[in-house]
Amino acid sequence: MLVEPRRSSLMGAGVAVAPATLYVGLGSNLGDRLGTLQAAARQLRDGAVPGTVLVRSSPVYETRPLGPSTAVYMNAAVELRTVAEPQALLAALQLLELRHGRTRRTRWEARTLDLDILCWLPMGLDALELDVPGLRLPHPELTRRDFVLAPLAALAPELRPHGGAGASVTELLAGLDAADRTIVAQVAEQLC
Ligand code: ADP
Ligand code: MG
Repeated sequence: MLVEPRRSSLMGAGVAVAPATLYVGLGSNLGDRLGTLQAAARQLRDGAVPGTVLVRSSPVYETRPLGPSTAVYMNAAVELRTVAEPQALLAALQLLELRHGRTRRTRWEARTLDLDILCWLPMGLDALELDVPGLRLPHPELTRRDFVLAPLAALAPELRPHGGAGASVTELLAGLDAADRTIVAQVAEQLC
């Protein structure tokens, strides 16, 4: 007798069964920065990404911009739990960016909302290493950016984005040069 593998009702919609924890970095340096980050976090909490729930959110930091844009950023990170596949999840995050007026005309332009997948941890396994068109995991800039590492350290200080033999988020943050530090302040308001 042929036995059909168990299928999740979410399969077929770009959604896999194996659950994963992932960390998403949020950034904004255009418009109502805090309001946009808070709205995006609420939408993630309220099911904006299929098969995905929000577990925790970090403090919000004000950070000086890298590159030509001069507008000061607000940055934060969230921990999500999902049964979606990485590419489907990134597509849903990019849709959320668009709903918040995100444009992509030039590389470094100011943005209302930037949502980056920082690190992806399939349940019980080391951090996923992935390099496919449009998606690299862990995020390639993760180890150089305090505006990403500091919010991430607030959620997962022991996380090792490059696997068990690699450095932890706390170690990566401590190893950054003073010149690479961008955090100006932690804001009083919560993300959500
Ligand atoms: P930024 O590098 O400032 O975040 P964008 O948000 O415009 O700029 O992203 C540029 C490209 O990076 C996107 O087209 C996206 O497909 C790609 N990308 C690769 N890896 C990731 C990731 N882990 N998270 C988000 N985007 C990623
Ligand atoms: Mg981005």
